[in-house]
Amino acid sequence: MKHVLVTGGAGFIGSHFVKRIIQSDDVASVTVLDALTYAGHIENLGTAFLSPKLTFVHGNILDAELVDDLMAKHNAVVHFAAESHVDRSFFAAAAFLETNVRGTQTLLDAAMRHGVERFVHASTDEVYGPLLEGTATEEFLLRPSVPYAASKAASDLIALSYWQTYGVPVCVTRSSNNYGPYQHPEKIIPLFVTRLLRGEPVTLHGRGEHVRNWLHVEDNCAGVEAVLRGGAPGEVYNLGGGTDLTGRELTEHLLRTCGATWDAVTYVPDRPANDLRYSIDWSKAATQLGYRPERSLEDGLAETADWYRRNPDRWAPLTRNPEAARPPRSLPVAPAGR
Ligand code: NAD
Repeated sequence: MKHVLVTGGAGFIGSHFVKRIIQSDDVASVTVLDALTYAGHIENLGTAFLSPKLTFVHGNILDAELVDDLMAKHNAVVHFAAESHVDRSFFAAAAFLETNVRGTQTLLDAAMRHGVERFVHASTDEVYGPLLEGTATEEFLLRPSVPYAASKAASDLIALSYWQTYGVPVCVTRSSNNYGPYQHPEKIIPLFVTRLLRGEPVTLHGRGEHVRNWLHVEDNCAGVEAVLRGGAPGEVYNLGGGTDLTGRELTEHLLRTCGATWDAVTYVPDRPANDLRYSIDWSKAATQLGYRPERSLEDGLAETADWYRRNPDRWAPLTRNPEAARPPRSLPVAPAGR
């Protein structure tokens, strides 16, 4: 697994993954391909950015020529680049389809041409849609409710079809909700933490009864690495095993972590198609690949809140930046470069 191309490596999960994989002795080089949308920041890479093993390419996964050129120099791909925020997908579904579906296909075409040995496509438990009871195995029907989840489901299917049709050795990971340092403050945990730390109010959708499984980003990255190293081509691996919480329970944890009270919380009407519950069965990754999430929620949330407390310079500009509040536009194709 010598030369690894990581798309979206300046985003939240991608940057954690790069910092992890670059330390492996059997990884000679890591190339990050990232368009640096409102969600991507070179600073997320920390000291990994200075590593002689790292090359940063500012570019778009939709740029077929650039992607083809990069693919020729890599034998493994870990694909995180995406439009990732559900609420934005309500206003800008086209951008989600463009990046998440056509961007994935552009990468797969190049992977096929260059005989890439491993292609891990990072996806989400949201593709299964809501489950009122039980858990979704990898065999479950995909019933996404919102444009974001539908675009991810489409990209999963395109990716798997490239294994069936062309033998591109694709694996798909479907993880539950990630949290941890460096997440964009549009997502619920950093949104609540950054507001509570400033003494500002937070809002809960509906009655706060929606259940999500909260997985520390490092645990997800360990799972993605396990799939990269040992996953069988054409297979899907659910990566769950975090903590199931309703919105109210999560809020209770965050209020406690940030030293605030329920006075800071107001309820607002629910957003469209807010799935009541996600739940995935992650026993396949556990038994076949030794995947075991290790972070406790209490420790993970405390560490996360502490990071936001210590790094206001990193997130405060993002909460003020109008671009961060606007739905995404079609992305320009940016030139390659370090
Ligand atoms: P993120 O929004 O923080 O990062 C996405 C990154 O992709 C950014 O750096 C952005 O600049 C880059 N990007 C976007 N469009 C691009 C394009 N056209 N070309 C090149 N780069 C582009 O997202 P994240 O939370 O780190 O999620 C990473 C992946 O994991 C996504 O595919 C997402 O669907 C999936 N996922 C996320 C979660 C979660 O809880 N965050 C859970 C399950 C799955």
